[in-house]
Amino acid sequence: MRIVVIGHGMVGSRFAQDAVTRIPDAHLTVLGREPHAPYNRVLLSSVVAGKAAADGIALDAPAHDRIDVRQGVAAVEIDRERRIVTASDGTLHRYDRLVLATGSAARIPQIQHVADPDGLVRGVAVLKDLADAQGILAALPKARRAVVLGAGVLGLEVATGLAARGLAVTLVHHADRLMERQLGSAASQIAEGSLARLGISVVTTTSVTRVIERRGRVSAVELGTGAEVLTDLLVMCAGTIPETALARRAGLPCERGVLVGEDLASPADGAVFAIGDCAQPPEGGTGLVAQGWDQAARLVEAWAGDGAGTAAGEAPAPTTTVVRVKATGLEVVTMGLSGKFDHGERELRAVRISDPAIGRFVEVVVSHGLLVGATVVGDKATATDLQALYTRMLPVPTDPAHLIVRPIPGAGPARRSVAEMDDDDTVCQCNGVTKGRICDAIAAGCATPQDVSRATRASTGCGDCKPQVKELLEAHATSEDRTPALAGAGEAR
Ligand SMILES: Cc1cc2nc3c(=O)[nH]c(=O)nc-3n(C[C@H](O)[C@H](O)[C@H](O)COP(=O)(O)OP(=O)(O)OC[C@H]3O[C@@H](n4cnc5c(N)ncnc54)[C@H](O)[C@@H]3O)c2cc1C
Repeated sequence: MRIVVIGHGMVGSRFAQDAVTRIPDAHLTVLGREPHAPYNRVLLSSVVAGKAAADGIALDAPAHDRIDVRQGVAAVEIDRERRIVTASDGTLHRYDRLVLATGSAARIPQIQHVADPDGLVRGVAVLKDLADAQGILAALPKARRAVVLGAGVLGLEVATGLAARGLAVTLVHHADRLMERQLGSAASQIAEGSLARLGISVVTTTSVTRVIERRGRVSAVELGTGAEVLTDLLVMCAGTIPETALARRAGLPCERGVLVGEDLASPADGAVFAIGDCAQPPEGGTGLVAQGWDQAARLVEAWAGDGAGTAAGEAPAPTTTVVRVKATGLEVVTMGLSGKFDHGERELRAVRISDPAIGRFVEVVVSHGLLVGATVVGDKATATDLQALYTRMLPVPTDPAHLIVRPIPGAGPARRSVAEMDDDDTVCQCNGVTKGRICDAIAAGCATPQDVSRATRASTGCGDCKPQVKELLEAHATSEDRTPALAGAGEAR
């Protein structure tokens, strides 16, 4: 089975690695436009913030004698009739099955003078790939001020990251509040207060309309209000658009993304599949890595199963709608129903505390004894507890107020640490790794978080679950220390 994969990002590389291991007769060619080994794109904002090193975010690269990876080589044409892909270096690649994993591109808003024929004006950037991050890092030594356009999750991460680097940051957002898809006005105002404490000015309800250049690089931007903001750097975080150009040219049906059915095949061609950010499955694309990794796993599973290529596979994993801003000094987490949500016919109870003086906002939404939504600003411990209740669908107290007030010892709902989780509870949401799998890996000899990641892939996505993995390792080490005294008491897990 000749498989050509287009795109060597987080999902394409994962698919290729699993396919070559699981499908004995598969011969893979992977075409990757970027000139590097695959890396953890999710951590690029941490690279900009100085919390991760650019050379420290590499992902496992597929290596096998049945896999041919071409780095720095783009696919330029798909001939579906002859089943041949033409690459930018002139090589031709025949396929029995073609997997599109071309990801998405940063959206460039309509701004006067944002680009010249050579590309974006110097000092203007997006943050989509490693080259973008390296460009921003290279500009930092001479930059004192930055404007970040867009206050979605990525915009907030970039703004706080640049502020942590010592730049005076202005965050410009088109809507009337930050993260308007997730936050209501009250939560947004409290988050704005936290940003102000980090030295970040926020300007809402307007956009950047013009880039003003001096000596060939950005020196200021003009806003829709007519105001000018001096700056050395403009980073545009205005959303992403699935990369569909190649698929469209090949006549594959596309809407926002490349249309695929539940089997991840194009409705127009059963030999062409799409996974990751470029795909538009029936349930819609989330733009989150967990969905792409789940699709990669389902495709491999289906092809490894009977080789029939029907990809009947499993149903898509339920999409988690937990959104967490990875920023220092700003804690924002939302899950399920948050912001301005539609109550519809449901019986919902929403309870909130809003405490601007200390920068804390917590809202919980409960329906039929379950937590169906929450918004947390400035309260990490509560966010962690609520996330556990939400993702594991645990029953909540009859009075939802108990969920948001820190429990008086012995009175409120007990906090459940990872030690109290069941074996089939998911610890790593990006990779769908359960506590049981992590404990098995530890029992089998994994002694460090890196060992556990290699064995189970836990923590290789956003990294949110690293503290829980560490906690499980420590619990195991403690129980090992005690084992001599407990000799004969059974398995030390
Ligand atoms: C800064 C940042 C922070 C993020 N934070 C989070 C987060 O916290 N949580 C989360 O779940 N997700 C996050 N994401 C989104 C996450 O990175 C994506 O969901 C994930 O990378 C999707 O993987 P993919 O393989 O589909 O696309 P990508 O990782 O984008 O890879 C696509 C690859 O295909 C290549 N390509 C495109 N066209 C061609 C062609 N014609 N020929 C050859 N190669 C081609 C591209 O160059 C790229 O290397 C973040 C993204 C960014 C940029």
